[in-house]
Amino acid sequence: MKKLTGAEIRQTYIDFFVEHGHTAVPSSSLVPGGDATLLFTNSGMVQFKDVFLGTDKRPYKRAVDSQKCMRVAGKHNDLDDVGRDDTHHTFFEMLGNWSFGDYYKKEAIAWAWQLLTEVWGLDKNRLYATVFKDDKGDIPTDEEAATNWLKQPGFGSDHLFYMGRKDNFWEMAETGPCGPCSEMHFDLRPDEGKVTAETLDTDRFVELWNLVFIQYNRLSATQLDPLPAKHVDTGMGFERLVSVLQGVDSNYKTDLFTKSLDVLRSLTGKTEKEMLADFTPYRVVCDHARTASFLIADGVVPGNVGRNYVARMIIRRAARFGTKIGLHEPFLAKVAEAVIATYGASYPELEKSRGAILDNLTREEIRFARTVETGTAHLENLLSEIRAQNAALSSSKGKTVLDGHRAFDLYATYGLPFEISRDIAREEGLEVDEAGFNAAKDEHSKASGGGKAMGKMGGEDAEFFAGILKNLQKKNKLGEHGVEYDPYTSPRVEGEVLALIVNGESVGSASFGDPIEVILPKTGFYIESGGQVNDTGTIRALTPHPSPKNARGEGSEGWEIEISSMRRASAGVIVHMGEVISGHPKAGDPCIAEVDMARRHDIMRNHTATHLMHAALHQVLGGHAVQAGSLVAPDRLRFDFNHPEAMTPEQIERVEKIVNAAIAADMAVTPKLKSRADAIAEGAMALFGEKYGETVRTISIIPEGVEIIDESAVEHPTALAEQQPKFSYELCGGTHLERTSDIGTFIIVSEGSAAAGVRRIEAVTGRGAYELIARRLKALKQVAGMLKSGIEDVPEKVNSLQDQLAAAAKQISSLRVEMSKNEFSELIPLAQGAKGTTVLAAEVEEADAEKLRMLTDQFRDFYKSGACVLVSNIQGKPTIVASVTEDLIKRGLKAGDLITAIGGRGGGRPNLAQGSLPDTLKASEALSKVVNVVEEKLK
Ligand code: ATP
Ligand code: MG
Repeated sequence: MKKLTGAEIRQTYIDFFVEHGHTAVPSSSLVPGGDATLLFTNSGMVQFKDVFLGTDKRPYKRAVDSQKCMRVAGKHNDLDDVGRDDTHHTFFEMLGNWSFGDYYKKEAIAWAWQLLTEVWGLDKNRLYATVFKDDKGDIPTDEEAATNWLKQPGFGSDHLFYMGRKDNFWEMAETGPCGPCSEMHFDLRPDEGKVTAETLDTDRFVELWNLVFIQYNRLSATQLDPLPAKHVDTGMGFERLVSVLQGVDSNYKTDLFTKSLDVLRSLTGKTEKEMLADFTPYRVVCDHARTASFLIADGVVPGNVGRNYVARMIIRRAARFGTKIGLHEPFLAKVAEAVIATYGASYPELEKSRGAILDNLTREEIRFARTVETGTAHLENLLSEIRAQNAALSSSKGKTVLDGHRAFDLYATYGLPFEISRDIAREEGLEVDEAGFNAAKDEHSKASGGGKAMGKMGGEDAEFFAGILKNLQKKNKLGEHGVEYDPYTSPRVEGEVLALIVNGESVGSASFGDPIEVILPKTGFYIESGGQVNDTGTIRALTPHPSPKNARGEGSEGWEIEISSMRRASAGVIVHMGEVISGHPKAGDPCIAEVDMARRHDIMRNHTATHLMHAALHQVLGGHAVQAGSLVAPDRLRFDFNHPEAMTPEQIERVEKIVNAAIAADMAVTPKLKSRADAIAEGAMALFGEKYGETVRTISIIPEGVEIIDESAVEHPTALAEQQPKFSYELCGGTHLERTSDIGTFIIVSEGSAAAGVRRIEAVTGRGAYELIARRLKALKQVAGMLKSGIEDVPEKVNSLQDQLAAAAKQISSLRVEMSKNEFSELIPLAQGAKGTTVLAAEVEEADAEKLRMLTDQFRDFYKSGACVLVSNIQGKPTIVASVTEDLIKRGLKAGDLITAIGGRGGGRPNLAQGSLPDTLKASEALSKVVNVVEEKLK
């Protein structure tokens, strides 16, 4: 059988159950909706929980899905196994088919068996099933499931085992829906002899699929009531299935991980053999990079609490395992690219979040790199202290566990997550006290009020901030206009911390992990407006490097706050919002606030490009194409404008061309403050719905070679507009490049409808454009390589291939008709007369369903009146096709009935039906019944 790719296997699963009446349902997010009790979706059941509880109803009774799952926290935590074995991941996909009060054990078991053994052809001798038998003796044994297993064709009775509550009874919670389950295990090493219930639990076996039969409602520890409507909930480990079907001995050797491992191996320069000899770090990195990519795509970015902590821990742990194979520079974004390439088609959210995924990974690696060495050095000291104490005690009874609160200090001060401290400790035969760590973390987050959303929105706290402003003005720390705002020329500002606000209260100092708001005398951080997003960056103590005296970081003057957002809290008060990522900032500390300029530069490219595009749209579509909305972000720009219909491909191309020409022309981008009336009179574009003050900032983009006129010499603004042709002229408070050529390249990614009469363009520039081009060029090169042609010749080559293909298909089909004529003539002698018509029942060798259909066409052509049944054995599957001429249909004979009447399964139209014969029925036996059936049915 042909080896299927992972993507094909996923699709086959979905298709199989859709064919059996299931509705294909998309995976829900890794972050469970409306379920605060659960950190992550950890099984397929989560999105259907309310259906089982009876509080939610779906429009279908059968569903099939592939669900994104995570098991790194809470009740299901497989982190210890990940990387160490070949079958557990932190993130994995769970394939599931579901019955909500519809079909039950009989169908669920038969389909599972059919799919695994018939559709996918798994060796029946290597599959084992378990069913429930209560070890406590209270709940009845699941004989119903056992009987059904034993009924499956080719299922050996010595392949069934009874298991107790731990393995084979599923409960959602202390009370509620529950029931027995039945698991399928696959034998990886069948040559190792006899299998017992105990062997199933060893690494000779891999657990593939768990079928849960929800039939009870638990009311108390001792009371189980039968449910009126019984359900089926199944979960199959997708990666494990793929490894079994692809015949490899590790999930990591499937095509799901090929790309990631290739990237890693090329980064380390190791051979495949060397890699396999030291496989654990590769496995960990690939697993974690995949998990982090999916997490970020679902909106979970690295942080200090809850889900965000898990994202941070996973990335940092991957980075640390990277160092074990010699990777010290940030490398995870490269692995994530491979993850996106592998999964992007099935999970489009990955493609959509590419920018965020790559950015977050690299930033987190850089952040970690800043502190990890000092952190691990401190940990090493603590561990050697323990060892020294043990040696002094000279006994094996010495302490082997590192205090939880010390481990927390290592996290708070150096960003070493608990899991990493534990990895390091374990490498030296020691442990870390997890409960103590969690207690210290809880205590800390309570003390800093962590978890609560910070700052109030909608200006509710404007009064509070007005009070702070007054106070600072009284102390002469701020002037009458409040905080000075200059996002245009001051990306780096030194100053004093004027105020720190934690959870709505002004505080003297803050510490690690605190969500915080900071007021400085002056800022260069842009505040979101006119579509341009907030700046991000850092505020640090002026003494740049912390030199802590102890692991808590006390005595240190170094600290750092990561700024993720900005706001105007009240008139004159600008607030930086973020999180303390190291040390203890204090009010009054001298500090330096620095905008993330790489990101800002990307934003400026997109903003200047937005102006160029706006002007180009006017040239191409007309003056009505005015801005209706805009987003200027680092990774893309989005622009909505008035236009009644979709742009044509030519129009889009022209806009793109004009903008790129304007970029190449290296025009000067000039900001100027003016009175609003003058600017409007000069023809500057103002935006509908924007508020403008009396003085406005204008941005003009003027072609080179145009003489810049001394404005003071011109009397009327309108006269100036005529004399000074501008490429673009807008009122705008945003930040811009100095010259258009800094944009690099501009590419339109999409054009579509945003609302009635409003179109939306998304485009990329600079780095984003380069990445897009590189990605597409690579794909094109691949195609050219496959076609063995030059890139430019690809369209022509594809055209001619398509022509060839069409010609070949035509030829094949006429050849097949010819052939079937010949073959049909061999069948003619087998035809018999019956009730005034002709009946042909025959076995045909090596024919697929299509060929059988062709032969029945020949039959109908040749005989005008008659019934024909043909059987062929294709890949061990007896396929049957029946055909009946119109006159016989009128006399009461239908093709589908003919198949069922002789013991087959299947159906179709009255004149043509298709199906199969059960394994137990011989073809010759079935065919021998045809004449009788025809005679009986014909009136
Ligand atoms: P195991 O005992 O192997 O950890 P489990 O009993 O925890 O499996 P279930 O909760 O029954 O597994 O989940 C259903 C299926 O999901 C399993 O049969 C298995 O194929 C797969 N699975 C479970 N945990 C993981 C994991 N961490 N990584 C990959 N697949 C998993
Ligand atoms: Mg498990």
